[in-house]
Amino acid sequence: FSCSPKDGDSSQSAADKGADYDAITQKVDSLLAIMTLEEKVGQMNQYNGFWNVTGPTPQDGDAADKYEHLRSGLVGSMLNVRGVENVRAVQKIAVEETRLGIPLIIGFDVIHGYETMSPIPLAESASWDMEAIKRSAEVAAAEAAAAGINWTFAPMVDISRDARWGRVMEGGGEDPYLGSMIAAARVKGFQGDDLSAVNTIAACAKHFAGYGFSESGKDYNTVDVGTSTLYNQIFPPFQASIDAGVRTFMNSFNELNGVPATGNAFLQRDILKGEWKFDGFVVSDWGSIAEMIPHGYAKDNREAAMHAANAGSDMDMESYAYVAELVSLVEDGKVKESLIDDAVGRILRVKYELGLFDDPYRYCDETREKEVIGNPAFQEDVLDMAKKSIVLLKNEGGILPLKPSGQRIAVIGQLAAENNSPLGSWRIASKDSTAVSLLDGLAAYPGNQITYAKGVDVTVGNTAFVFETEINETDNSDFSSAISAARGADVVIMALGEHGFQSGEGRSRAEIGLPGLQQELLEAVYAVNKNIVLVLHNGRPLTIPWAAENLPAIVEAWQLGSQSGNAIAQVLYGDYNPSGKLPMSFPRSVGQVPIYYNHKNTGRPVSPGENLVFWSHYNDESNDPLYAFGHGLSYSSFDYANLQVENNYASQGSIKVSVDVTNSSDVDGKEVVQLYIHDMHASVTRPVMELKGFDLSSIGAGETKTVEFELTDAELGFYNNDGVWIVEPGMFKLFVGTSSTETMSSQFEI
Ligand code: BGC
Repeated sequence: FSCSPKDGDSSQSAADKGADYDAITQKVDSLLAIMTLEEKVGQMNQYNGFWNVTGPTPQDGDAADKYEHLRSGLVGSMLNVRGVENVRAVQKIAVEETRLGIPLIIGFDVIHGYETMSPIPLAESASWDMEAIKRSAEVAAAEAAAAGINWTFAPMVDISRDARWGRVMEGGGEDPYLGSMIAAARVKGFQGDDLSAVNTIAACAKHFAGYGFSESGKDYNTVDVGTSTLYNQIFPPFQASIDAGVRTFMNSFNELNGVPATGNAFLQRDILKGEWKFDGFVVSDWGSIAEMIPHGYAKDNREAAMHAANAGSDMDMESYAYVAELVSLVEDGKVKESLIDDAVGRILRVKYELGLFDDPYRYCDETREKEVIGNPAFQEDVLDMAKKSIVLLKNEGGILPLKPSGQRIAVIGQLAAENNSPLGSWRIASKDSTAVSLLDGLAAYPGNQITYAKGVDVTVGNTAFVFETEINETDNSDFSSAISAARGADVVIMALGEHGFQSGEGRSRAEIGLPGLQQELLEAVYAVNKNIVLVLHNGRPLTIPWAAENLPAIVEAWQLGSQSGNAIAQVLYGDYNPSGKLPMSFPRSVGQVPIYYNHKNTGRPVSPGENLVFWSHYNDESNDPLYAFGHGLSYSSFDYANLQVENNYASQGSIKVSVDVTNSSDVDGKEVVQLYIHDMHASVTRPVMELKGFDLSSIGAGETKTVEFELTDAELGFYNNDGVWIVEPGMFKLFVGTSSTETMSSQFEI
């Protein structure tokens, strides 16, 4: 009664690739046959953009050496070169000055937009809207491709349960099922159906693997996870990326169970290229080959290069290790030349697929660059994505939507005036301070009278990796103007949270409440006016128990990109009915972290009952999150009824589930109907709930919709501790509802 429905799903085996694939294989083989060992190693070397059109940049200390390497065919890829003029210039050197004229592949961190910015990925994930997420990636790809770029280091598909980790802003949240859907949508959006089209770019699933499980949420920290977590939580979005056709992977800074991911043959050879038959290439993370030395895994760059190449890292991003050491490592018999051929073959294949051999300048068209980058039409796309990303966390007493006129509204908090912070982290190519601020957005609704007061600063100033103790604001001199604005207002909108640069790489935080003096400001304003709508700006879940308890309304507005303020204003005024749902649990306090909905039961009773002292709990904190995974309100209200389960597993291998969802309000809305299962007894214990289906439905006022799901072996099984997908007979619980904590339940047996 066990099977492996996932086996083969992820394979990129040659057999089913067709004529184009074979044609490329032949071209790759013929090219490899005439390449010297040095030239092959050159293809495996990637340098950071040391170049502008005038030549090597003085800021990059090694620019002159890199330039010489480029001219001698020792560079296969560059990152952070952008703009048609610059890309053309470096491409020209590769194509015209090197012996074989192999074009460069040009990489860039196009994470949530290039110039026109979409919401940060965690925010987009809150939409649960795969079409919108795909469209967002399409827009980013079109702009980046028009700037000469043909490869993005995205999507980041790391599952994470730790809101202290600054990079949760870049991912799909805590759940492998939702995370897999999102990974696939992003890959398809970036790559389109035709990689050689001039508006698509190669995607990169990163960071393989385990990066989101860094101990205590500190970026780059040790990762130590068991087999079950690795296979069932961490791997699925990577597999989904392969199924969606992703052409590259990036490995990771962290060690995994004692072996750095970059030197990890189990991850890269056995799993990725072995079991999953991935036929694209793997780029190291920035300097991660050399980082194996401080990790304590390699004694020097030479040993690091040897470990990385043998373990299946195909391209060296900025460690200078391959270019310096690989040739002699092969000559000394430490790395087999067949492994080099394999790596180079993979890299060349992707270059062929991108059409770079047909025309190395296909991404270099000045007219297209002017027309496409910053095309005003894209603003509509990112506005749509931004509205869909907003999560209404709380709304009591009818405070939202706002009345269109006759109101005095106090808007408080520096973030309300920010047109930089909403662009979020990772927006290397976008122009700073180009987001529509909340104040700008509210100005489109002139019926109410707005008074603005900053209250307190949250600005971190620049992109530097700074310690918060250095930036924590102590100046409360503007509290008084905030308080007097609030005193005379009918409604107070408080824009509080993190600056856009307080999350992202290297920006882990030990305290994840409102930074600086913002909590004090909030309570001071509340003392004079309780009618507060808190609009949160943040790149991660925040601990805001006081706000959740006391305020009538909380709107989760993340960092929403270029159209941030317009999106928030439309939601506040009810011109857009929110439907976002949290992709990550919000803790009550940082001591609960990691907190996630799909945890395991313990051997102790599930609820306190008679064993009050001995169940798994804290004595000073609840076990519940502040806001659960999947939570999110709407201006409509949805009633769930008539949960039906049709068990055809024995005859057809399928369980059909249906539920009637009624919009009992007088406004049209959208609802993410969620389905979870719990496999009650299994040979490896299963989480108390696992998302296995969802449906984003538009349901008109007064309308009832029957939503249907089907569960098959692909949803009912799990990876056992040998990494094999199995489905075991037994009882399952089933939950259907509006969030992971508000559900109807049933059960079935297979
Ligand atoms: C990050 C990667 C990124 C790379 C290139 C690294 O520090 O971890 O995610 O793609 O830099 O910018």
